[in-house]
Amino acid sequence: MTDGEEYTLEDEIVARARIHARDVVDENGLAVDLTALEWDVSARARRRAGACRWHADRGVATIVLARRAYERYEWPAFAGIVRHELVHAWEFQQFGESGHGDRFREQAAALEAPRYCEAFTEPRYVLRCLTADCDWRAKRHRASKPVASPDQYRCGDCGGSYEVEHVESGRTWATAGGYGGAKAALGEDW
Ligand SMILES: [Zn+2]
Ligand SMILES: [Zn+2]
Repeated sequence: MTDGEEYTLEDEIVARARIHARDVVDENGLAVDLTALEWDVSARARRRAGACRWHADRGVATIVLARRAYERYEWPAFAGIVRHELVHAWEFQQFGESGHGDRFREQAAALEAPRYCEAFTEPRYVLRCLTADCDWRAKRHRASKPVASPDQYRCGDCGGSYEVEHVESGRTWATAGGYGGAKAALGEDW
């Protein structure tokens, strides 16, 4: 990076991913050649959190990480995606091919990486204003305070009350008590 150039979110993502990858390789003795590994960030990817491309001609693997996934996940989950893609890079470098088969599964388990590349578009929660003619909406991926205690917050547009929907189950609530009830009712499916 040269002087005066802004340190972008993309730079941050690549920097953190590189450091994590190096630690993982060191700690696990994973046979990945980090000098034959390139990193990229996709600002457009909407579904896949990560991908690994193999350039057989150069013997180089490129891990592409989605900026939106970085923005939406907490670091531990995002780090899991980095490890998942690192397993693909390992397979490509060692065997010239990669998939999600037994070999992948075993190595992913050893690194405590998820076996499958998660899709990340669907928010877990949608906030929706209750005022009749206001169509304010917001998406949340975690049970943040506005999700858990909607009675303590206000619609971002009109200042009215809003409700929260747990997208997968369709359950809604507008109070902290309602949140607790929905969470209890859903149990394992939460
Ligand atoms: Zn994968
Ligand atoms: Zn509103």
